[in-house]
Amino acid sequence: MININNSSFTILGAGRSGIAVARLLKKNGGKVFLSDGSKRESLKYLDEEVLKNEGIEFETGNHTDRIFENDIIIKSPGIPPDNEYISGAKKLGKKIYSEIEAAYWLCKGRIIAITGTNGKTTTTVLTGEIFRNAGYDTKVCGNVGLAFSEIAESVKEDSVVILETSSYQLYDTEEFRPEISVLMNITPDHLEWHKGFENYLDSKLKIMKNQTEKETAVINYDDEILRKSTTGFNTKKAYFSIKENLFGKKDVNSGSCIENDKVIYFDKSKNLKEEIMNAGEINIRGNHNIYNSLAAVISARAFQIKKEIIIETLKTFKGVEHRIEFVREFGGVKYFNDSKATNTDSLTVALESFIDGNLILIMGGREKDNDYSSLVKLIKERVKIIIAIGESRNKINDFFSVNTKVIKAETMQDAVNEAKNSAEPGDTVLLSPACKSFDMYDSFEHRGRDFKNIVNQLN
Ligand code: ADP
Repeated sequence: MININNSSFTILGAGRSGIAVARLLKKNGGKVFLSDGSKRESLKYLDEEVLKNEGIEFETGNHTDRIFENDIIIKSPGIPPDNEYISGAKKLGKKIYSEIEAAYWLCKGRIIAITGTNGKTTTTVLTGEIFRNAGYDTKVCGNVGLAFSEIAESVKEDSVVILETSSYQLYDTEEFRPEISVLMNITPDHLEWHKGFENYLDSKLKIMKNQTEKETAVINYDDEILRKSTTGFNTKKAYFSIKENLFGKKDVNSGSCIENDKVIYFDKSKNLKEEIMNAGEINIRGNHNIYNSLAAVISARAFQIKKEIIIETLKTFKGVEHRIEFVREFGGVKYFNDSKATNTDSLTVALESFIDGNLILIMGGREKDNDYSSLVKLIKERVKIIIAIGESRNKINDFFSVNTKVIKAETMQDAVNEAKNSAEPGDTVLLSPACKSFDMYDSFEHRGRDFKNIVNQLN
């Protein structure tokens, strides 16, 4: 393990995690220099007073050669590995690490790390909720709000850190070894950053690379790529599936799956097989959320958390904001905010979650080359009316109006009004844009909040 006291660090990127790791390393005796190429005004987490008080030197607006004066570079996840400064640092023999690696060096708590192309935040927050309800001192961090470096040092040995980890963060780890690693799924994503699918997969697998037979990897059995590429690792493995009854499989020792519509958990080495609850009682909608729930069940049972606490949490967990989030019922019509759906895959997942149909779908926004053809069948089956907003409203109209009624709206207020006027009792209004938000908003969170405000004011 690195001796922080005797080391010097350049932190590249003064975002939330960059600043947190700079402060953490400085506090622990490291020599630290923070550098960000962006203009000072755009760095909203940078507080000169705090940095000066703590003796952390920094530069903004560009990177000078000073960044090469230190031995170790801690790089922001946004910077790709082939970035010129990173290549330059590597040529000079510098070590490159991510923020989670550095926070790991100083973290005494028990770590459950969660990764995957989709479902990371939901699984992280849900797992955190179960552990909190079970009375653990629980810290939920990573890409969700808090940075790992903000809490790493303060947690106690019996605290549980539930850490959402991206492939970018995992790429630059070396010693990182969580007690439980969770691999949700993998589909082609971020391929530009990683330069290809193989590299992306390798980065994700680093979550379990250092684990031994004392630790556990929780793996999605239905994801063939993940299942096959994880066979060689030493760690204990637990699997989850919604397609297969894993209990009957010789090669699976423990895990969670569905048997006669019930969530079951088993650990053959302990002669244990138990029914947790009816799958239908899980409060968050859709098959994708059953996957997220099964993964959380395994982590919870691995810590011997009581069944009753798991059941109670799964029955009441409302999901994460902006992900098929129930907003309110008005005039017999239910309103859901799925503003996080910024691509067609996420809209598909949302549509599949509303098996009863009767949807009035608000979609549209900024997009470059969305291919809507994969959505045609589901939209025809489940959507009564599309309300098209944003830059892509004409494209959406041209594409879908052959089969489905499309109304174009200028603003979110207009869109909600149109939805309200068209809806009949029993219908569902769903904002699931399949597009980015930047044509009308700062972020998908901003868009989701605007939608919710408008819906909450309906009368
Ligand atoms: P992430 O943090 O990985 O982006 P989230 O939990 O924020 O994942 O969910 C983002 C979107 O991904 C959801 O709105 C939904 O469309 C989809 N999603 C969530 N969980 C899963 C899953 N297990 N499998 C596939 N898609 C999922």
